[in-house]
Amino acid sequence: MKELLDVEDARALLVHSLSARAQAFERTSERIAVATARGRISAKRVATSVDVPVCATSAMDGYAVCSADPIWRGAPPHRARVAGASRAGHPPTASLEPNTAMRIFTGAVLPAGSDAVVIQENTRAHGDGIDVDTTPEAGDWVREPGNDVKRGTQLIAAGHELNAFDLARLTSCGVASIDVRPKLRVAIFSTGDELRDVGQSLAPGDVYDSNRLVLRELLAKSAATVTDLGIVADDESRTVAMLESAAHDHDAILTSGGVSVGDADFVRRALERVGKLEFWKLALRPGKPIAYGSIGACAFFGLPGNPVSTIVTYLLIVKPALAALAGAPEAPPLRVSARARVAIAHEPGRAEYQRGTYSIDNDGIHVQPTGDQGSNRIDSFTHANCLIEVPKENPGIPIGARVQILPFDGLLS
Ligand code: AMP
Ligand code: MG
Repeated sequence: MKELLDVEDARALLVHSLSARAQAFERTSERIAVATARGRISAKRVATSVDVPVCATSAMDGYAVCSADPIWRGAPPHRARVAGASRAGHPPTASLEPNTAMRIFTGAVLPAGSDAVVIQENTRAHGDGIDVDTTPEAGDWVREPGNDVKRGTQLIAAGHELNAFDLARLTSCGVASIDVRPKLRVAIFSTGDELRDVGQSLAPGDVYDSNRLVLRELLAKSAATVTDLGIVADDESRTVAMLESAAHDHDAILTSGGVSVGDADFVRRALERVGKLEFWKLALRPGKPIAYGSIGACAFFGLPGNPVSTIVTYLLIVKPALAALAGAPEAPPLRVSARARVAIAHEPGRAEYQRGTYSIDNDGIHVQPTGDQGSNRIDSFTHANCLIEVPKENPGIPIGARVQILPFDGLLS
Protein backbone atom coordinates (compact mmCIF):
# COMPACT_ATOMS: atom_id res chain seq x y z
CA MET A 1 0.00 0.00 0.00
CA LYS A 2 1.27 3.47 -0.84
CA GLU A 3 2.34 5.24 2.31
CA LEU A 4 0.01 7.87 3.69
CA LEU A 5 1.29 11.43 3.39
CA ASP A 6 1.55 13.43 6.62
CA VAL A 7 -0.60 16.55 6.78
CA GLU A 8 2.40 18.78 7.49
CA ASP A 9 4.24 17.34 4.48
CA ALA A 10 1.21 17.83 2.23
CA ARG A 11 0.87 21.39 3.42
CA ALA A 12 4.58 22.09 2.91
CA LEU A 13 4.51 20.59 -0.61
CA LEU A 14 1.52 22.71 -1.56
CA VAL A 15 2.82 25.90 -0.02
CA HIS A 16 6.14 25.39 -1.81
CA SER A 17 4.62 24.70 -5.21
CA LEU A 18 2.02 27.47 -4.94
CA SER A 19 4.47 30.09 -3.64
CA ALA A 20 6.40 29.68 -6.89
CA ARG A 21 3.18 30.19 -8.81
CA ALA A 22 2.34 33.22 -6.68
CA GLN A 23 5.24 35.14 -8.18
CA ALA A 24 3.23 35.91 -11.31
CA PHE A 25 0.39 36.99 -9.09
CA GLU A 26 2.69 39.22 -7.03
CA ARG A 27 3.49 41.31 -10.07
CA THR A 28 -0.08 42.56 -10.31
CA SER A 29 -1.76 44.89 -7.88
CA GLU A 30 -4.73 47.18 -7.53
CA ARG A 31 -5.12 50.40 -5.60
CA ILE A 32 -7.98 50.45 -3.12
CA ALA A 33 -9.17 52.64 -0.25
CA VAL A 34 -7.42 51.86 3.05
CA ALA A 35 -10.86 51.75 4.65
CA THR A 36 -11.70 48.65 2.59
CA ALA A 37 -8.30 46.93 2.80
CA ARG A 38 -8.65 44.72 5.88
CA GLY A 39 -7.68 41.14 5.06
CA ARG A 40 -5.98 42.12 1.78
CA ILE A 41 -2.28 41.52 1.07
CA SER A 42 -0.12 44.61 0.56
CA ALA A 43 1.61 44.67 -2.82
CA LYS A 44 4.32 47.17 -1.89
CA ARG A 45 6.11 48.56 1.13
CA VAL A 46 4.40 51.68 2.48
CA ALA A 47 6.36 54.35 4.38
CA THR A 48 4.98 57.47 6.00
CA SER A 49 5.80 60.79 4.35
CA VAL A 50 4.84 62.74 7.47
CA ASP A 51 5.77 62.87 11.13
CA VAL A 52 3.00 61.92 13.57
CA PRO A 53 2.42 64.17 15.40
CA VAL A 54 3.44 66.77 12.85
CA CYS A 55 4.57 69.23 15.51
CA ALA A 56 5.37 69.16 19.24
CA THR A 57 2.23 68.61 21.32
CA SER A 58 1.38 68.13 24.95
CA ALA A 59 1.03 64.62 26.39
CA MET A 60 -1.09 65.84 29.31
CA ASP A 61 -3.46 68.56 30.48
CA GLY A 62 -1.42 71.26 32.23
CA TYR A 63 0.69 74.32 31.40
CA ALA A 64 3.26 74.90 28.69
CA VAL A 65 6.38 76.59 30.04
CA CYS A 66 9.96 77.51 29.14
CA SER A 67 12.22 75.59 31.52
CA ALA A 68 15.00 78.22 31.12
CA ASP A 69 12.82 81.07 32.42
CA PRO A 70 14.16 82.58 35.67
CA ILE A 71 10.86 81.89 37.50
CA TRP A 72 11.79 78.17 37.64
CA ARG A 73 15.11 78.76 39.42
CA GLY A 74 15.51 77.63 42.99
CA ALA A 75 13.41 75.12 44.89
CA PRO A 76 9.66 74.66 44.28
CA PRO A 77 7.01 75.84 44.70
CA HIS A 78 7.31 78.33 41.85
CA ARG A 79 4.75 80.95 41.00
CA ALA A 80 3.81 81.80 37.38
CA ARG A 81 1.24 84.00 35.72
CA VAL A 82 -0.97 82.17 33.21
CA ALA A 83 -1.29 83.80 29.79
CA GLY A 84 -3.11 82.30 26.80
CA ALA A 85 -4.30 78.79 26.06
CA SER A 86 -3.69 75.99 23.55
CA ARG A 87 -6.46 73.48 22.94
CA ALA A 88 -6.45 70.41 20.68
CA GLY A 89 -7.58 71.63 17.28
CA HIS A 90 -6.97 75.28 18.28
CA PRO A 91 -3.23 76.01 18.12
CA PRO A 92 -2.02 79.07 20.04
CA THR A 93 -1.99 82.30 18.05
CA ALA A 94 0.87 83.79 20.09
CA SER A 95 4.21 82.61 21.50
CA LEU A 96 4.70 81.90 25.17
CA GLU A 97 5.37 85.18 26.97
CA PRO A 98 8.56 85.11 29.02
CA ASN A 99 8.07 84.12 32.67
CA THR A 100 4.52 82.91 32.16
CA ALA A 101 2.77 79.56 31.70
CA MET A 102 0.22 78.88 28.96
CA ARG A 103 -2.80 76.66 29.66
CA ILE A 104 -2.53 73.55 27.47
CA PHE A 105 -4.50 70.35 26.93
CA THR A 106 -3.61 66.84 25.79
CA GLY A 107 -2.78 66.75 22.09
CA ALA A 108 -2.62 70.57 21.80
CA VAL A 109 0.26 72.31 20.01
CA LEU A 110 3.11 73.57 22.21
CA PRO A 111 3.43 77.35 21.82
CA ALA A 112 6.64 78.74 20.34
CA GLY A 113 9.05 79.57 23.14
CA SER A 114 7.97 76.66 25.37
CA ASP A 115 9.87 73.42 25.85
CA ALA A 116 8.03 71.60 28.67
CA VAL A 117 4.63 70.97 30.20
CA VAL A 118 3.89 70.98 33.90
CA ILE A 119 0.98 68.67 34.55
CA GLN A 120 -2.16 70.01 36.12
CA GLU A 121 -1.84 67.56 39.04
CA ASN A 122 1.34 69.36 40.17
CA THR A 123 -0.18 72.84 40.16
CA ARG A 124 -2.55 74.89 42.28
CA ALA A 125 -4.49 77.77 40.77
CA HIS A 126 -4.43 81.16 42.46
CA GLY A 127 -5.93 84.31 40.98
CA ASP A 128 -4.52 84.71 37.47
CA GLY A 129 -1.63 82.36 38.09
CA ILE A 130 -0.49 78.99 39.37
CA ASP A 131 1.80 77.62 42.05
CA VAL A 132 3.87 74.75 40.69
CA ASP A 133 5.17 72.04 43.02
CA THR A 134 7.81 70.71 40.63
CA THR A 135 10.65 72.21 38.61
CA PRO A 136 10.08 71.71 34.86
CA GLU A 137 12.84 70.24 32.71
CA ALA A 138 13.06 70.60 28.95
CA GLY A 139 11.03 67.85 27.25
CA ASP A 140 8.74 67.09 30.22
CA TRP A 141 5.36 65.78 28.92
CA VAL A 142 6.15 66.91 25.40
CA ARG A 143 5.45 64.71 22.40
CA GLU A 144 8.12 65.66 19.90
CA PRO A 145 7.25 65.64 16.17
CA GLY A 146 7.36 62.00 15.02
CA ASN A 147 6.98 60.71 18.62
CA ASP A 148 4.47 58.16 17.29
CA VAL A 149 5.80 57.59 13.77
CA LYS A 150 8.79 59.36 12.18
CA ARG A 151 8.70 60.44 8.56
CA GLY A 152 10.16 57.68 6.37
CA THR A 153 9.29 54.88 8.82
CA GLN A 154 7.95 51.71 7.21
CA LEU A 155 4.29 51.29 8.05
CA ILE A 156 3.58 48.17 6.01
CA ALA A 157 5.91 45.60 4.43
CA ALA A 158 5.15 44.13 1.02
CA GLY A 159 3.19 40.86 1.23
CA HIS A 160 1.59 41.61 4.59
CA GLU A 161 -2.01 40.75 5.43
CA LEU A 162 -3.60 43.99 6.56
CA ASN A 163 -5.43 44.00 9.89
CA ALA A 164 -7.52 46.63 11.66
CA PHE A 165 -4.46 48.06 13.45
CA ASP A 166 -2.59 48.46 10.16
CA LEU A 167 -5.53 50.41 8.75
CA ALA A 168 -5.48 52.63 11.85
CA ARG A 169 -1.73 53.31 11.49
CA LEU A 170 -2.05 54.08 7.79
CA THR A 171 -4.97 56.40 8.49
CA SER A 172 -3.09 58.18 11.31
CA CYS A 173 -0.39 58.97 8.75
CA GLY A 174 -2.94 60.28 6.25
CA VAL A 175 -2.59 57.34 3.84
CA ALA A 176 -5.96 56.98 2.11
CA SER A 177 -5.26 54.32 -0.50
CA ILE A 178 -2.96 51.33 -0.79
CA ASP A 179 -1.69 48.94 -3.46
CA VAL A 180 -2.82 45.39 -2.72
CA ARG A 181 -2.56 42.07 -4.49
CA PRO A 182 -5.68 41.14 -6.43
CA LYS A 183 -8.15 38.92 -4.62
CA LEU A 184 -7.88 35.25 -5.47
CA ARG A 185 -10.72 34.18 -7.74
CA VAL A 186 -11.90 30.84 -6.47
CA ALA A 187 -14.60 28.68 -8.06
CA ILE A 188 -16.35 26.01 -6.01
CA PHE A 189 -18.70 23.21 -6.88
CA SER A 190 -20.00 20.07 -5.24
CA THR A 191 -20.15 16.70 -6.93
CA GLY A 192 -22.77 14.07 -6.20
CA ASP A 193 -25.96 12.73 -7.76
CA GLU A 194 -27.50 12.62 -4.27
CA LEU A 195 -27.01 16.33 -3.53
CA ARG A 196 -29.89 18.78 -3.38
CA ASP A 197 -30.13 22.47 -2.59
CA VAL A 198 -32.16 23.62 0.38
CA GLY A 199 -35.75 24.13 -0.72
CA GLN A 200 -35.73 21.06 -2.96
CA SER A 201 -37.40 17.90 -1.72
CA LEU A 202 -35.28 14.89 -0.80
CA ALA A 203 -35.79 11.42 -2.29
CA PRO A 204 -34.53 8.52 -0.15
CA GLY A 205 -30.72 8.74 0.01
CA ASP A 206 -30.56 12.38 -1.03
CA VAL A 207 -28.76 14.91 1.17
CA TYR A 208 -28.67 18.66 1.25
CA ASP A 209 -25.42 20.17 0.01
CA SER A 210 -23.90 22.01 2.96
CA ASN A 211 -20.32 21.99 1.67
CA ARG A 212 -20.65 24.84 -0.79
CA LEU A 213 -22.07 27.12 1.85
CA VAL A 214 -19.37 26.38 4.40
CA LEU A 215 -16.61 26.73 1.80
CA ARG A 216 -18.09 30.02 0.62
CA GLU A 217 -18.12 31.34 4.16
CA LEU A 218 -14.61 30.12 4.97
CA LEU A 219 -13.25 31.52 1.71
CA ALA A 220 -14.86 34.89 2.35
CA LYS A 221 -12.56 35.18 5.38
CA SER A 222 -9.56 34.62 3.14
CA ALA A 223 -10.27 37.69 0.99
CA ALA A 224 -11.13 35.56 -2.03
CA THR A 225 -13.80 36.26 -4.62
CA VAL A 226 -15.90 33.13 -4.77
CA THR A 227 -17.90 31.84 -7.73
CA ASP A 228 -20.39 29.20 -6.65
CA LEU A 229 -20.93 26.88 -9.60
CA GLY A 230 -23.52 24.75 -7.83
CA ILE A 231 -23.85 20.99 -7.88
CA VAL A 232 -22.40 18.85 -10.65
CA ALA A 233 -23.66 15.32 -11.22
CA ASP A 234 -21.32 12.34 -10.94
CA ASP A 235 -20.64 12.53 -14.64
CA GLU A 236 -17.19 12.73 -16.15
CA SER A 237 -17.96 14.83 -19.21
CA ARG A 238 -20.01 17.37 -17.25
CA THR A 239 -17.22 17.68 -14.72
CA VAL A 240 -14.66 18.11 -17.50
CA ALA A 241 -16.75 20.89 -19.03
CA MET A 242 -17.14 22.63 -15.69
CA LEU A 243 -13.44 22.40 -14.87
CA GLU A 244 -12.43 23.71 -18.28
CA SER A 245 -14.70 26.71 -18.20
CA ALA A 246 -13.94 27.59 -14.57
CA ALA A 247 -10.17 27.33 -15.11
CA HIS A 248 -10.29 30.18 -17.66
CA ASP A 249 -11.12 32.93 -15.23
CA HIS A 250 -10.21 31.55 -11.79
CA ASP A 251 -6.99 31.15 -9.83
CA ALA A 252 -8.24 28.05 -8.02
CA ILE A 253 -11.09 25.54 -8.17
CA LEU A 254 -12.31 23.70 -5.08
CA THR A 255 -14.62 20.74 -5.34
CA SER A 256 -16.03 18.40 -2.75
CA GLY A 257 -16.98 14.78 -3.14
CA GLY A 258 -16.00 12.20 -5.70
CA VAL A 259 -12.50 11.56 -4.39
CA SER A 260 -13.15 8.69 -1.98
CA VAL A 261 -11.98 5.20 -2.88
CA GLY A 262 -15.30 4.29 -4.47
CA ASP A 263 -15.29 6.99 -7.09
CA ALA A 264 -11.77 8.36 -7.01
CA ASP A 265 -11.28 7.47 -10.65
CA PHE A 266 -14.14 9.69 -11.66
CA VAL A 267 -12.49 12.92 -10.45
CA ARG A 268 -9.10 11.59 -11.46
CA ARG A 269 -10.20 10.93 -15.03
CA ALA A 270 -11.97 14.29 -15.33
CA LEU A 271 -8.96 16.22 -14.10
CA GLU A 272 -6.45 14.20 -16.06
CA ARG A 273 -8.36 14.99 -19.24
CA VAL A 274 -8.03 18.75 -18.74
CA GLY A 275 -4.96 19.19 -16.55
CA LYS A 276 -2.49 17.53 -14.22
CA LEU A 277 -3.48 15.58 -11.16
CA GLU A 278 -1.80 14.41 -7.99
CA PHE A 279 -3.82 12.19 -5.76
CA TRP A 280 -2.85 11.92 -2.15
CA LYS A 281 -3.92 9.73 0.67
CA LEU A 282 -3.27 11.67 3.79
CA ALA A 283 -2.45 10.36 7.25
CA LEU A 284 -5.39 12.46 8.40
CA ARG A 285 -8.71 11.76 10.06
CA PRO A 286 -11.16 13.00 8.98
CA GLY A 287 -10.24 13.56 5.36
CA LYS A 288 -7.97 10.83 4.04
CA PRO A 289 -8.23 11.33 0.25
CA ILE A 290 -7.48 14.66 -1.41
CA ALA A 291 -6.82 15.48 -5.04
CA TYR A 292 -4.53 18.30 -5.99
CA GLY A 293 -3.53 19.48 -9.42
CA SER A 294 -3.75 22.23 -11.99
CA ILE A 295 -5.60 23.15 -15.12
CA GLY A 296 -3.31 25.56 -16.96
CA ALA A 297 -2.58 28.38 -14.51
CA CYS A 298 -5.50 27.41 -12.26
CA ALA A 299 -4.90 25.35 -9.10
CA PHE A 300 -7.29 22.50 -8.32
CA PHE A 301 -8.23 20.99 -4.95
CA GLY A 302 -10.60 18.04 -4.78
CA LEU A 303 -11.80 17.65 -1.21
CA PRO A 304 -13.58 14.64 0.22
CA GLY A 305 -17.37 14.92 0.37
CA ASN A 306 -18.14 14.11 3.98
CA PRO A 307 -18.93 17.54 5.44
CA VAL A 308 -16.48 17.30 8.35
CA SER A 309 -13.72 16.05 6.04
CA THR A 310 -14.37 18.93 3.66
CA ILE A 311 -14.02 21.47 6.47
CA VAL A 312 -10.96 19.91 8.09
CA THR A 313 -9.04 19.45 4.83
CA TYR A 314 -9.94 22.99 3.83
CA LEU A 315 -8.67 24.44 7.11
CA LEU A 316 -5.50 22.39 7.40
CA ILE A 317 -4.42 22.15 3.78
CA VAL A 318 -6.32 24.31 1.31
CA LYS A 319 -6.40 27.49 3.40
CA PRO A 320 -2.59 27.71 3.81
CA ALA A 321 -2.16 26.68 0.17
CA LEU A 322 -4.44 29.49 -1.02
CA ALA A 323 -2.62 31.94 1.26
CA ALA A 324 0.65 30.91 -0.41
CA LEU A 325 -0.96 31.35 -3.83
CA ALA A 326 -2.10 34.85 -2.81
CA GLY A 327 1.47 35.68 -1.75
CA ALA A 328 0.66 35.91 1.96
CA PRO A 329 3.37 35.00 4.45
CA GLU A 330 3.10 31.57 5.99
CA ALA A 331 1.25 31.66 9.30
CA PRO A 332 0.74 28.30 11.02
CA PRO A 333 -2.54 28.13 12.97
CA LEU A 334 -2.39 28.99 16.66
CA ARG A 335 -1.87 25.90 18.84
CA VAL A 336 -2.51 25.95 22.57
CA SER A 337 -1.79 23.30 25.17
CA ALA A 338 -4.86 22.03 27.07
CA ARG A 339 -5.66 19.21 29.48
CA ALA A 340 -8.08 16.49 28.47
CA ARG A 341 -11.22 16.71 30.59
CA VAL A 342 -12.10 13.15 29.54
CA ALA A 343 -10.08 10.33 28.02
CA ILE A 344 -9.80 10.81 24.24
CA ALA A 345 -9.74 7.61 22.22
CA HIS A 346 -7.53 7.43 19.15
CA GLU A 347 -6.53 4.66 16.78
CA PRO A 348 -2.83 5.09 15.82
CA GLY A 349 -1.99 5.55 12.13
CA ARG A 350 -3.43 8.93 11.21
CA ALA A 351 -3.30 12.36 12.85
CA GLU A 352 -6.78 13.11 14.07
CA TYR A 353 -8.53 16.44 14.42
CA GLN A 354 -11.51 16.03 16.71
CA ARG A 355 -14.03 18.77 17.26
CA GLY A 356 -13.70 19.93 20.85
CA THR A 357 -14.91 22.40 23.41
CA TYR A 358 -12.27 24.13 25.48
CA SER A 359 -12.80 26.31 28.50
CA ILE A 360 -10.44 28.32 30.68
CA ASP A 361 -10.69 27.63 34.40
CA ASN A 362 -8.61 28.72 37.40
CA ASP A 363 -6.19 25.86 36.77
CA GLY A 364 -5.74 26.36 33.02
CA ILE A 365 -7.31 25.28 29.76
CA HIS A 366 -9.36 22.08 29.57
CA VAL A 367 -10.84 20.44 26.50
CA GLN A 368 -13.20 17.63 25.63
CA PRO A 369 -14.45 16.24 22.32
CA THR A 370 -18.02 16.96 21.21
CA GLY A 371 -19.21 13.37 21.21
CA ASP A 372 -19.42 11.08 18.16
CA GLN A 373 -16.68 12.16 15.75
CA GLY A 374 -18.05 10.56 12.56
CA SER A 375 -16.82 12.50 9.50
CA ASN A 376 -20.40 12.67 8.20
CA ARG A 377 -21.57 14.35 11.42
CA ILE A 378 -21.66 18.10 10.89
CA ASP A 379 -23.38 18.07 14.27
CA SER A 380 -19.94 17.42 15.81
CA PHE A 381 -19.39 21.19 15.35
CA THR A 382 -22.19 21.99 17.79
CA HIS A 383 -20.62 23.64 20.86
CA ALA A 384 -17.16 23.13 19.31
CA ASN A 385 -14.70 26.01 19.57
CA CYS A 386 -11.50 24.19 18.58
CA LEU A 387 -9.96 21.20 16.87
CA ILE A 388 -8.17 18.76 19.17
CA GLU A 389 -4.97 17.57 17.53
CA VAL A 390 -4.20 13.93 18.31
CA PRO A 391 -0.79 12.99 16.86
CA LYS A 392 -0.54 10.15 14.36
CA GLU A 393 0.98 7.49 16.58
CA ASN A 394 -0.73 8.52 19.81
CA PRO A 395 -2.45 5.53 21.44
CA GLY A 396 -5.13 7.71 23.07
CA ILE A 397 -5.05 10.58 25.52
CA PRO A 398 -5.69 9.73 29.17
CA ILE A 399 -7.86 11.98 31.26
CA GLY A 400 -5.84 14.95 32.55
CA ALA A 401 -3.04 14.55 29.95
CA ARG A 402 -1.88 17.42 27.78
CA VAL A 403 -3.05 17.79 24.20
CA GLN A 404 -2.68 20.53 21.59
CA ILE A 405 -5.78 22.37 20.47
CA LEU A 406 -6.31 24.69 17.50
CA PRO A 407 -8.85 27.31 18.65
CA PHE A 408 -11.28 28.31 15.91
CA ASP A 409 -10.43 31.96 16.61
CA GLY A 410 -6.94 31.35 15.24
CA LEU A 411 -7.90 28.75 12.66
CA LEU A 412 -10.67 30.71 10.97
CA SER A 413 -9.15 34.19 10.83
P1 AMP B 1 -17.93 11.22 -1.61
O1 AMP B 1 -16.65 11.90 -1.17
O2 AMP B 1 -18.49 11.80 -2.85
O3 AMP B 1 -17.77 9.75 -1.65
O4 AMP B 1 -18.98 11.53 -0.46
C1 AMP B 1 -18.81 11.04 0.84
C2 AMP B 1 -20.06 11.28 1.66
O5 AMP B 1 -20.24 12.68 1.80
C3 AMP B 1 -21.34 10.75 1.04
O6 AMP B 1 -22.16 10.26 2.07
C4 AMP B 1 -21.96 11.97 0.40
O7 AMP B 1 -23.35 11.89 0.28
C5 AMP B 1 -21.56 13.06 1.36
N1 AMP B 1 -21.44 14.33 0.66
C6 AMP B 1 -20.76 14.53 -0.47
N2 AMP B 1 -20.85 15.82 -0.85
C7 AMP B 1 -21.63 16.43 0.08
C8 AMP B 1 -22.10 17.76 0.24
N3 AMP B 1 -21.77 18.71 -0.66
N4 AMP B 1 -22.88 18.07 1.30
C9 AMP B 1 -23.17 17.10 2.19
N5 AMP B 1 -22.77 15.82 2.10
C10 AMP B 1 -22.01 15.48 1.05
MG1 MG C 1 -19.93 11.35 -4.21
